[in-house]
Amino acid sequence: MRVEKVDVLVIGAGPAGSVAAAILNKNGHQVKVVEKQKFPRFVIGESLLPRCLHNLEKAGLLEAVQAQNFQRKNGASFTRNAEEFCAFDFSEHFTPGWGYAYQMPRAQFDKTLADEIVRQGVDLCYEESVEAVQFSPEKALIDIQPKKGDRYQIEAQFVVDASGYGRVLPRLLDLGCDSAFPARTAFFAHIKDTTRTKASEFLTEVAELKAAWTWMIPLEKGITSIGFVGDPDFLEQYGTDYDETMFRKLLSTHPLLVERYTAQEIEFVFPPRVIKGYSAGVKQMYGERFVLVGNSTEFLDPIFSSGVAFATETGAVAAELLSRQLAGEKVDWEKEYTKYIQHGIDVFRTFVREWYTGNLQTILYATRKDPSFKKQICSVLAGYVWDKKNPYVKKHRRAVPLLAEVIRGQQEANAAKE
Ligand SMILES: Cc1cc2nc3c(=O)[nH]c(=O)nc-3n(C[C@H](O)[C@H](O)[C@H](O)COP(=O)(O)OP(=O)(O)OC[C@H]3O[C@@H](n4cnc5c(N)ncnc54)[C@H](O)[C@@H]3O)c2cc1C
Repeated sequence: MRVEKVDVLVIGAGPAGSVAAAILNKNGHQVKVVEKQKFPRFVIGESLLPRCLHNLEKAGLLEAVQAQNFQRKNGASFTRNAEEFCAFDFSEHFTPGWGYAYQMPRAQFDKTLADEIVRQGVDLCYEESVEAVQFSPEKALIDIQPKKGDRYQIEAQFVVDASGYGRVLPRLLDLGCDSAFPARTAFFAHIKDTTRTKASEFLTEVAELKAAWTWMIPLEKGITSIGFVGDPDFLEQYGTDYDETMFRKLLSTHPLLVERYTAQEIEFVFPPRVIKGYSAGVKQMYGERFVLVGNSTEFLDPIFSSGVAFATETGAVAAELLSRQLAGEKVDWEKEYTKYIQHGIDVFRTFVREWYTGNLQTILYATRKDPSFKKQICSVLAGYVWDKKNPYVKKHRRAVPLLAEVIRGQQEANAAKE
């Protein structure tokens, strides 16, 4: 069997893989990316956070993204019914950094990154799949199956697993574990949106239903991505086929959705799709000759659009550490990778948990918001989850429920006065 030698093999050309490969290549290592599919390919996750721009810039990929003129995203808004509403402008956040992001079809975004790393000199092979791995103290041997052609092997010093939902190394090395969150379902589609307003054009909007919530992400060319996420028992009251009929029924469950979408004859760009039980975790994030990045590590929930921010962050941090190791330096992966990444995951885990307990809604929809805590929470929503000057980062577990408790106390006191 043919054997090809490289310094680093990256599995998958999603945002985590492209960012990692770009940094390794920039640092002078011989890196090869194998990607199972042909790009452009569909993947969900269309709304970015400002923190992504920091990672793309670090990887030398930001200019290529900016040249695409994707739909700009200035912030996020939340609404519980027709009356309760809260908007965050990302330019008004606590932590210094980018104050906007983009919302775009991932097929185009991921292809932009992949084309740019190829332009920068990375060897990227499409329609080749990693099928098996063997690690020894000296090297990693990886079996590759091209869609067309014979199986071959790659001998690498190190493997970066950026295979996303493919979870290649967690599967092959039995590293996967269940998420602490209950299995929720996501049901989504792209529609031709004729009711888009100037105000909604630059925001990712979230509207709450009873035991679910829906995203509305305006993309280019008048197309909007809409998704329902929640408890499967709640969603399945509206059908079990996850088809256009069920989607239309769900659109009639929230006053904002009714106002926008039920009056028009919705035209679907593709038939609605469903993902059941999307959360997953891992027992370890690295080994002697490998590291897991992006969704290969842990995926919590789409509520705060944090997936690509984490994919690019893990890709960038892992690639910088690996470059140091390949240059002969001793790297403390536990401290510099797992602990660092785990901290960011834990901050978002608190926010996700408190969204589903309702504490976060108490904060979001409080009528009188202190501007300083709004900026601090805005920073977390923008993906700045490593800035320990922010109390909602440093003491996230305690700070979020405590603030909700204080607001509820004030609301009860005000109600008693009236
Ligand atoms: C319902 C839902 C909504 C979401 N919304 C958002 C959002 O609005 N914003 C956001 O930031 N995130 C969102 N996410 C999360 C987002 O989808 C992921 O976090 C992101 O795609 C992870 O990027 P990645 O690079 O790790 O993996 P991916 O983008 O999944 O890329 C992995 C690549 O690896 C390839 N691969 C897999 N197996 C193999 C193999 N054996 N050999 C070679 N290649 C392989 C795949 O073909 C794929 O191209 C959402 C997730 C869900 C479930």
